[in-house]
Amino acid sequence: MRSREDLRKTLNRIDRKGYKAYKDIKGEYDFAQFVLCIDHVQGDPFASPSRVRVRVPQVTAKFPGSLISTKTRRIALSDYLTRQFKKAVRDCVKGNRGIGNSGIIDIDRPGQEVLERTSVLIGEDSVEARFVMGLPASGRTILSREASEMFFSEVPGLVKRSLEFQRLNSKHLTNHIEVVEDQEFIRGQLDNHGLVSFTANGSILPRRSGIDDQPLSRSPDPSGHIVPFETPSSLEVEFITTNRGRIRGMGIPKGITLIVGGGFHGKSTLLNAIERAIYCHLPGDGREYAVTHPGAVKIRAEDGRRIEKVDISPFIRNLPFGKDTTGFCTDNASGSTSQTANIMEALEVGASVLLMDEDTSATNFMIRDLRMQALVSKDKEPITPFIDKARQLYTELGVSTILVMGGSGDYFDVADTVLMLDGYRPGDVTARTEEIVQRFKSGRKKEGGTGFGKVSHRVPLSGSFNPQRGKRDVKIDVKGLKNILYGRTSIDLYYVEQLLDTSQTRAIGDIIYYYSQRYLEEGDTLKVGLDRVMTDLEAAGLDTLSPRKMGNYALPRIFEVAAAINRIRTLRVK
Ligand code: ADP
Ligand code: MG
Repeated sequence: MRSREDLRKTLNRIDRKGYKAYKDIKGEYDFAQFVLCIDHVQGDPFASPSRVRVRVPQVTAKFPGSLISTKTRRIALSDYLTRQFKKAVRDCVKGNRGIGNSGIIDIDRPGQEVLERTSVLIGEDSVEARFVMGLPASGRTILSREASEMFFSEVPGLVKRSLEFQRLNSKHLTNHIEVVEDQEFIRGQLDNHGLVSFTANGSILPRRSGIDDQPLSRSPDPSGHIVPFETPSSLEVEFITTNRGRIRGMGIPKGITLIVGGGFHGKSTLLNAIERAIYCHLPGDGREYAVTHPGAVKIRAEDGRRIEKVDISPFIRNLPFGKDTTGFCTDNASGSTSQTANIMEALEVGASVLLMDEDTSATNFMIRDLRMQALVSKDKEPITPFIDKARQLYTELGVSTILVMGGSGDYFDVADTVLMLDGYRPGDVTARTEEIVQRFKSGRKKEGGTGFGKVSHRVPLSGSFNPQRGKRDVKIDVKGLKNILYGRTSIDLYYVEQLLDTSQTRAIGDIIYYYSQRYLEEGDTLKVGLDRVMTDLEAAGLDTLSPRKMGNYALPRIFEVAAAINRIRTLRVK
């Protein structure tokens, strides 16, 4: 390993030279307090900035063993340090030092969720931060003095402020870790308590906007008030957590749950909170004790998507002209077929809770009422509506449903629990709906048949994923949160609503490649193959995906990985 003086000398030597000479600084340097690794040097000042790591040995970083004793704690600490590093960058990096991205230092940006990520890795005897630096230039000419300031003043400053325990606010840090740990604890307890989701009293669920996931600070309604979450007494449950102690709130039991209530009374807000609570949230988010079963998958209609040989026959059969629905293919799905495929694909990889909102569902998939049954006989309607399948899904496959449904009381017939939102406050109206069911018979015939039907497992074929583009054998780019350009194939993830972080999207692109290299040839089902991939990632971490020591991966779930594979328009299965 070279010394920091070596770096200084090299920088002096290449001052005012052409930009390419920066390549000479690649390597590892001993900075006494830490090791600096310059892994990749950008080709010009406008290219993606250079990739750099600093490794601080535990003897310097001095994180107490208690903060890194479990995986959950390490993930929470990594998240905290990433945010701390980001804050330190704002405070002490000058920024613009020339053209292009000259002078920037940046680290991955976590949102409101706490995810396993590679921006900061917590090891047994060191802490490593991975970030990028825009090496400064004027025109194409190297500015060594500026670069030296970055390496010898700014980077050591960032290390001190964000990676050394003594310099951090230990109360703040400990709270961050403990809040995450308590959420994970509750998540782990849900099953035992027969629950699929939990929302603590006092939670703040509404968000600033559809594109801003921070808590709402002032409600748009005339009062301006934000109504903290309150649990109806019949659904109140209590968890005794390690750090915070007693936490009371609403438990949504397994089975079929309806969320009803007038428009604008907060139904979708509650469902959105439930669907995002598959991950932990940071303290101050408002949803830090809102916890959902990790097997919960948001389902919606998605017309226009491609479907590759999905068995949708539990819901759709006897199409006109005899089109097969046990291996249904289309390049342009309708609302109902896309929603069906989304369900069947989620079940294929192990979903245990389905989350649906009438706002984003196909009406003809959700309901067929008495009058429509009278007009259009069952033998003329290929679709069996979800209302007639929900019960079978639960009793036969153990899959629960939480459904926002303000528009059809026919669903009272199949619900185990009915929550009514009134001015953002949920009430348990299950008993009232039972009365209503007795008083007003829906009169509709059940169309679900004798059983749910089969969840089929598909075997993807090799050659389905071609990562080649131009001269490159492997070119996988992430174009924002909801799009991957895999080779020359664009994967549109716009409607994959629980994909929350661009770093997850990036990981998914590379997971598909990893999967295709390791397990596709084996002829296993999609589920078996992806389970293996997820096990590898669990055992060896996200670094398994790339030799390049990426700092901007975050761990996705198997459901979002499968969703991406299912949306590759070149996917072929046996
Ligand atoms: P629905 O789905 O029942 O039509 P939404 O969930 O879309 O209603 O909520 C309507 C509006 O009320 C949204 O702008 C949302 O931000 C706001 N809102 C939801 N819950 C609360 C709350 N607890 N306090 C204040 N405003 C809220
Ligand atoms: Mg709504």
